[in-house]
Amino acid sequence: MSAPVVCFRCGDRYDDETRVRCACGEPLWFDTPRTEFTWEDCPDIEGMWRYEPLLPIDRPEGVARAAGGTPLVRSSGLDDAAGCRVYVKDESENPTGAYKDRGSAVAVPYAIEAGNDVVGTISYGNMGISTAAHATSLDRECLVLVPEEIPSGRLELIAQYEPTIVQVSGDYGALYSDGLSLSESLPISILVSDDPARISGYKTVVFEIYESLAPETPDALALPASSGGFASGVWRGLCDLKALGLLEELPRLYLVQTAAADPITRAFESGAAEPTALSPDETGETIAHSIGNPDPPSGARALAAVRDTGGAVVSVSDAEIRTAKRQFAVDGGFCVEPAAATPLAGLTRLSERGEIASDERVVVVPTGTGFKELGVGDVSISTERTSRADLPELLESLLDVN
Ligand SMILES: *Cc1c(COP(=O)(O)O)cnc(C)c1O
Ligand SMILES: [Zn+2]
Repeated sequence: MSAPVVCFRCGDRYDDETRVRCACGEPLWFDTPRTEFTWEDCPDIEGMWRYEPLLPIDRPEGVARAAGGTPLVRSSGLDDAAGCRVYVKDESENPTGAYKDRGSAVAVPYAIEAGNDVVGTISYGNMGISTAAHATSLDRECLVLVPEEIPSGRLELIAQYEPTIVQVSGDYGALYSDGLSLSESLPISILVSDDPARISGYKTVVFEIYESLAPETPDALALPASSGGFASGVWRGLCDLKALGLLEELPRLYLVQTAAADPITRAFESGAAEPTALSPDETGETIAHSIGNPDPPSGARALAAVRDTGGAVVSVSDAEIRTAKRQFAVDGGFCVEPAAATPLAGLTRLSERGEIASDERVVVVPTGTGFKELGVGDVSISTERTSRADLPELLESLLDVN
């Protein structure tokens, strides 16, 4: 545990690896490990711990061992929708159904090694589910702070791991900044989206993509962005590979936001260096609730990643998200949650604009499974696709249908 943390913006380094923010206010991340590394150095282990030499901790016990190692699937059925050659990096195949597990798999044991008996998070979605699962699998207490108006299905998904859940009334945005300061007064580590150890876990998705595609390389990667943590981890992974001499040119990074909460897109379009937080009346309702952060803590870093790689940030409407979710299912056979469908919707736009060529290899990352999320599909489809038959006349009616 001695990797120095560094600021992407001013380059300042801190030797205190429990520090999470730079004096300039930006979140810190771990620098590329000072090590010689080639793909042959990967231990023969399934999942993300194959990249243990590039991570800040040794492989822990518990459900962390099931994180990562997701398939990269060439999915030509989605080429028409995306306007390019599509590879799906299916992050729904993590233990709690979302890429968040890669981060929890590193951040939870990292916090425990640093002497925290209790870990916690502020989330009513995938972050809460994942942190609770990883904490209990290491037999640690977990505190999850959720807003008062959390849907019961979501509460059930978090509660199954039996963390302590506190429903907090009041401004959930303020809770986010106040909640972080809990770590200063209590022996508890609050692991939110920009936690440095979490970001280092996320970068393993990039290592897997490059190893699976070799000797080919992707021209671009497309992912959803909300707080910008995942985008940061992906950029960190690309920078590590470049620093280690395993990659020459970075692929373009395309980030996709919901039009209901898109401060990163606005900053990208206006040329600003960092996003401006949206006020409540600038933030709308969306079916993509996993990506509704109006004040992204890693927003400036996500923007820098996009500009560094020659990519773009785009926003998509709920109607476009519904279409993409359906295309994932019907043309690809994938069940993704609305937030995870956004990169496909974004590619549709980008290729219409001519930013992506049809012969380019693009990795699309559906970040979370749709199996936790019933009730967001088009109900009329169930009705349209279903007819009735009495058993004695079943054969006859099937002949009718066809
Ligand atoms: C958390 C989450 C995101 C957004 O990740 P950020 O790090 O907040 O940008 C996207 N998709 C899913 C399914 C998520 O759970
Ligand atoms: Zn700084």
